[in-house]
Amino acid sequence: MSCTIGFIGLGIMGKPMSRNLLKAGHSLVVYDIVPAPVEELVAAGAGRGASSKDVAARCQIVITMLPDGPDVEKAVLGSEGVLEGARPGAIVVDMSSISPLVAQKVGAACAEKGVEFLDAPVSGGEPKAIDATLAIMVGGKAETFEKVLPVLKAMGTSVTLTGPVGAGNTTKLANQIMVACNIAAMGEALALATKAGLNPEVVFNAVKGGLAGSTVLNVKAPMVISRNFKPGFRIRLHQKDLRNALQAAEALKVPLPYTSLVQQALVALINEGKGDWDHSGIVTFTEKLAQVEIK
Ligand code: NAD
Repeated sequence: MSCTIGFIGLGIMGKPMSRNLLKAGHSLVVYDIVPAPVEELVAAGAGRGASSKDVAARCQIVITMLPDGPDVEKAVLGSEGVLEGARPGAIVVDMSSISPLVAQKVGAACAEKGVEFLDAPVSGGEPKAIDATLAIMVGGKAETFEKVLPVLKAMGTSVTLTGPVGAGNTTKLANQIMVACNIAAMGEALALATKAGLNPEVVFNAVKGGLAGSTVLNVKAPMVISRNFKPGFRIRLHQKDLRNALQAAEALKVPLPYTSLVQQALVALINEGKGDWDHSGIVTFTEKLAQVEIK
């Protein structure tokens, strides 16, 4: 697809994702409320958008990659937002991780203006955003999905239509529950081993090829052992995802006891000033209780 693509939200994820669209030969117009990443993308060949409205007025496909639902509502539905500029037939693809209920609200507002909408959150974090190997989980109509598939394939290797609008974010919430509980369990396991006098690196190497091995363990254990908590994926964003998961679960009457425990630990870590640490820092909650450092 050769039409111009708009990209709104150039943070840890949006910046490398938009760079990959440029690399794949797409022409791009970008916007962020923070000027610095816009300058970087303009230097790399993108057009400068003056606002979300301006981006939408110039593009057939508009991608948003913002922190949470309220940010997406503001950028798409708000004053100077996407829907003030978008033409009927345009496609909005929200790739942020937000509540499925907010995705459905934004999708319905788009439909009223004749604008198509997909929710398409991603998994893989900054390294996979840079390599264009993200897993992308999409909700929306099959015809709309087919139209943007070549664009999504420039950012990810696994692109799956999971159901109607909202399904992408429900899938992402399932992903986030598994990742958070996995990191928390890894923290308890390595805290025990370290306090028993073992070298956590030896323990990690001993178990990674067995049933406890996982992508989470392979990526996060080395970060913990080297005490590198630079994000990556921020603790405050993971807290937001688990909060959205608990809200969605409440509406469906699904108890999530393990998720709620980890979500509460994340609230405590944010209070400790660790909201902008990588989520591998979840282990420091257990470390504090156990009075041990995994290193
Ligand atoms: P980030 O905080 O680094 O970036 C968000 C960007 O959005 C910032 O540059 C901010 O200035 C911009 N922004 C906020 N409100 C705006 C508005 N109204 N208009 C224009 N720009 C606006 O966040 P991130 O890590 O890039 O994450 C973005 C989304 O992707 C989140 O929903 C997150 O949960 C999800 N996600 C992140 C990762 C990760 O590893 N970082 C992985 C998977 C999914």
